[in-house]
Amino acid sequence: MTDDQKPILYMNAVERRYQQGDSALEILQGAELGAWLGQSIALVAPSGSGKSTLLHIAGLLEHPDAGEVYIDGVATSGLPDAERTRIRRSEIGFVYQAHHLLPEFSALENVAIPQMIRGLSRKEANKRAQELLSYLGLKKRLTHRPVELSGGEQQRVAIARAVANAPRILLADEPTGNLDPHTADHVFNMLTQLVRASGLAAIIATHNLELAGRMDRRVTLQDGKIVEMA
Ligand code: ADP
Repeated sequence: MTDDQKPILYMNAVERRYQQGDSALEILQGAELGAWLGQSIALVAPSGSGKSTLLHIAGLLEHPDAGEVYIDGVATSGLPDAERTRIRRSEIGFVYQAHHLLPEFSALENVAIPQMIRGLSRKEANKRAQELLSYLGLKKRLTHRPVELSGGEQQRVAIARAVANAPRILLADEPTGNLDPHTADHVFNMLTQLVRASGLAAIIATHNLELAGRMDRRVTLQDGKIVEMA
């Protein structure tokens, strides 16, 4: 395979179980998933089936009990924590159901701060933050703090923050789950547009089949394994 054909993220034979008293709760049982640049994947499965667990493992926030997660061809399970953190910070963006924005900072600062932590000057970070927020329709909300934004606006800031450091992988866990249907639709459109424009690989967990239908690929979890949907 040439580099172009290789998945940027590849999970192979991933297992994860949680101990519940004497018995083990088997969540992932040999899950395999590849995600390619420029591709958006909807992960649609019932609550409790292991979507968040899969995303946490994909994002190097958790270790699998068995199996391997490759990021750009690099096996990550044996890497030191500091290297896993470095890869996570540079290659992976997260969007959660709740926005988790810093309440005392403006929209612009919330998107600029992660870039400054990575070493960009305030000027450079502000420039990119402004571009991203404008792209997501928030040009007139740059100085607003999270409490001064609507739910859909807060989630758009969270999306801008997730891609601020130009990751190649975006992982989103029910990113529109807290929004009303109309706002969810709008935010989802913005998110998929951004994914296409930036050539990211995205895995988005959602309960919403209509929204999932707009993505390039749909997968579900069955008995702890990834299964392609129509
Ligand atoms: P989903 O995101 O599809 O709702 P999760 O990945 O959050 O599913 O959880 C899958 C299952 O694993 C659930 O039954 C949940 O209760 C269980 N689970 C998740 N995290 C833990 C944990 N830290 N300890 C024990 N059980 C857990």
